[in-house]
Amino acid sequence: MSLTADASSRSGVLAPLRHDWTRTEVRALFDLPFPDLMFRAQTVHRTHFEPTEVQISTLLSIKTGGCPEDCAYCPQSARYDTGVRAEKLMALDAVLAEARAAKAAGASRFCMGAAWREPKDRDLDAVCAMVQEVKALGMETCATLGMLTATQARRLKDSGLDYYNHNLDTSPEFYGDIITTRTYDDRLQTLAHVRDAGVHVCCGGIVGMGESREDRVGMIATLANLPEHPESVPINMLVRVAGTPLADEPKLDPLEFVRTVAAARITMPRSVVRLSAGRGDMSEETQALCFLAGANSVFYGPKLLTTPNPGRDLDRELMARLGLNAMEP
Ligand code: SF4
Repeated sequence: MSLTADASSRSGVLAPLRHDWTRTEVRALFDLPFPDLMFRAQTVHRTHFEPTEVQISTLLSIKTGGCPEDCAYCPQSARYDTGVRAEKLMALDAVLAEARAAKAAGASRFCMGAAWREPKDRDLDAVCAMVQEVKALGMETCATLGMLTATQARRLKDSGLDYYNHNLDTSPEFYGDIITTRTYDDRLQTLAHVRDAGVHVCCGGIVGMGESREDRVGMIATLANLPEHPESVPINMLVRVAGTPLADEPKLDPLEFVRTVAAARITMPRSVVRLSAGRGDMSEETQALCFLAGANSVFYGPKLLTTPNPGRDLDRELMARLGLNAMEP
């Protein structure tokens, strides 16, 4: 395995970012003894980031439920009976009220999620207005709206969008077991449109969906070998929601989740790695290990789209106990 990045880091020299990670190399990271993996992840993390700083984002569902896609983990798909009701796109004023509250609670970035396969142009007009106004509050803006055309990506950029989230979800090999209504290549194309428009990319995946370790290796290798590393890499633990096809999936070993975070940190050293969905079910000790493994971003707030998340007070308390501080935008 090449140790170039870490060897350089320890000597204080930033190694160039790599986009040629082989699966053998990524597999070797996952296979490291846990203390060695954590040491490598910490070494990389401390070279590129202040280790006590955590970026805080808030995610608001601006259009909930009724999605035509069939993502097997998602309670918002209209195909599954999960009790999530389809709602209309939120009004601008209501979104701004949420953004102000998030800012007051310490969030530097406001993410707006809509359960669409892709936005219609009429809907995009409304979202662009939201982006513009949230930006005017002095927050970073992020949206996740499904697939985008090149033109739509440019319109969002012109409205002031800083980040666009579009996850690869898993490895190319396992992807078809989870989603059949759009392809891996569709996802890569949206990511290319976002990148070409000059919007930062937020792209990661979900573990614990019944995939093998090799699939987790494949997901990390694919993310790390994108033409540019996503600026933000959310690593989610499956939230097993009743009514979805993955409701009864056995729980993944939390240490395997920590290993996935560490592999993301080592292979994408300058990206912010975000603990996303699944934190509500995670022990504080597991979350602390994730921070040690190089995670340096969380979603704050009681809900993540439609699934529970630790409340702001619980997050504040844990961060205080760990001596972590909110990263400035
Ligand atoms: S993950 Fe997104 S695209 Fe997939 S069903 Fe849920 S809302 Fe729709």
